[in-house]
Amino acid sequence: MDLSVEALEVLELFFWKKDEDVNQEKLKDELSDVFYALLLLAAHYQFELEAALIEKMRKNKEKYPVSKFRNSNQKYNE
Ligand SMILES: [Mg+2]
Repeated sequence: MDLSVEALEVLELFFWKKDEDVNQEKLKDELSDVFYALLLLAAHYQFELEAALIEKMRKNKEKYPVSKFRNSNQKYNE
């Protein structure tokens, strides 16, 4: 729940705003809150988030080879 609430707090910063109107200090704070919530969740389930991210990027690279999906918003099974 904490992660969802913090993600919504990030989203709120962008509602009806142009990029240049986003409050950078608040964005830093809220992204840090999201990051902290992610770290807590990973710690609770006893895995290293950085290693999980690297593994997920490897999987994405396999699923979405650049030669096939560059500039595409297709899902891998479409
Ligand atoms: Mg927050």
